[in-house]
Amino acid sequence: MKKNIFSTDYTVGVLGGGQLGKMMALAAGNWHLNIHLLDKSKDFPAGPVAPELIEGDFNNYDDVLNFGRKADVLTIEIEHVNTDALKQLEKEGIQVHPNATALETIKDKGLQKQFYFDQNLPTSPCSFHTGPEAIRESIKKGEIEYPFVQKTRTAGYDGKGVAVIKSEEHLDRLLPAPSIVEPLVDIDKEIAIVAARNPSGQVEVFPAVEMLFHPVANLVEFLQCPAAVSEAKIQEAEEIAKKTIEAFDICGLLAVEFFLTNDGEWLINESAPRPHNSGHHTIDSCYTSQFEQHLRGILDLPLGSTKMKSPSVMVNLLGEDGFTGNAVYEGMDKVLAIPGAKVHLYGKAQTKPFRKMGHATLLDDSVEGAIEKARRVRDTLKIKA
Ligand code: ADP
Repeated sequence: MKKNIFSTDYTVGVLGGGQLGKMMALAAGNWHLNIHLLDKSKDFPAGPVAPELIEGDFNNYDDVLNFGRKADVLTIEIEHVNTDALKQLEKEGIQVHPNATALETIKDKGLQKQFYFDQNLPTSPCSFHTGPEAIRESIKKGEIEYPFVQKTRTAGYDGKGVAVIKSEEHLDRLLPAPSIVEPLVDIDKEIAIVAARNPSGQVEVFPAVEMLFHPVANLVEFLQCPAAVSEAKIQEAEEIAKKTIEAFDICGLLAVEFFLTNDGEWLINESAPRPHNSGHHTIDSCYTSQFEQHLRGILDLPLGSTKMKSPSVMVNLLGEDGFTGNAVYEGMDKVLAIPGAKVHLYGKAQTKPFRKMGHATLLDDSVEGAIEKARRVRDTLKIKA
């Protein structure tokens, strides 16, 4: 007999107990789901808010196998997990979402690109290389032209596996790992769309989010929703996001990051099969949060409405440069006095320069108003040690 999801004998297992696991556990708490997470320490962000955080390593075959065997459905909050164990669990009849094959493809930027080529999904062309020597050879042969972007195939996170090479003088920046090389795209905007799907085949997308870059540092500073792109253009990207989640046969969430080129073309940059930074605003600004939607997707429940309740801007709260140690949050009282400021602190004990310690979503009747509030948060809230 099929178990009732809303009972104590049904267990949702999650690999990872960081901030995404914490927010997933908080969403699960609304329905009192029996959610268990696997990560190295009970002190990680999800620990205090979940019924169970099992200590173990999501990269270790046996740890994942033993943890997964106790779950009715198994999901992730980070893609760098042991996919061999997930394959074994699938064989044993455990429901694994996202499926292990899609996860294996997405974990490797080379396989991910090849997948888009094979599926006729739009992405920039690329070549495959074993490392810097092979890239230098290809330059000599005229197969690679400047400017280009090198991306390591695995373990790139938050820009650390990416090198922009504009000329010969930059060649010492080449990263020592198997990589892909793409031409530098002439980017107008960077947009993300979080798609959701359930095993019954229902697909929904959240409103597109636009990344706003700091004019000097050239880092993403704010994420605004709705994006400042025409509705017709956004619909094109939504269709691509839907096709992508279907092509991967993923249930739960798939966040698709796009470049909108200066020629008005959509290119998929990369995808993440889990809740995503660009979906954090949904907790406060949409009918359904991305975390609840992920649970609905993996549990084959009806997907929730993704309708926007209010324009919003999300700002990541990063550890202040120059401070490492026990985190202290300065300026919270001033930030909480801003109307429509919703602050989410992840509960990481230790702060480090630029570590993601939380986020704030600023709600306002207009995006411009929300941006102004986000600037105030950026200038007021300081995370020190
Ligand atoms: P990560 O997985 O580390 O987030 P991304 O592949 O998303 O790495 O690249 C990080 C950033 O680098 C992108 O958001 C974009 O601004 C820039 N970038 C990546 N690829 C290209 C490209 N082909 N052309 C121009 N800019 C790029």
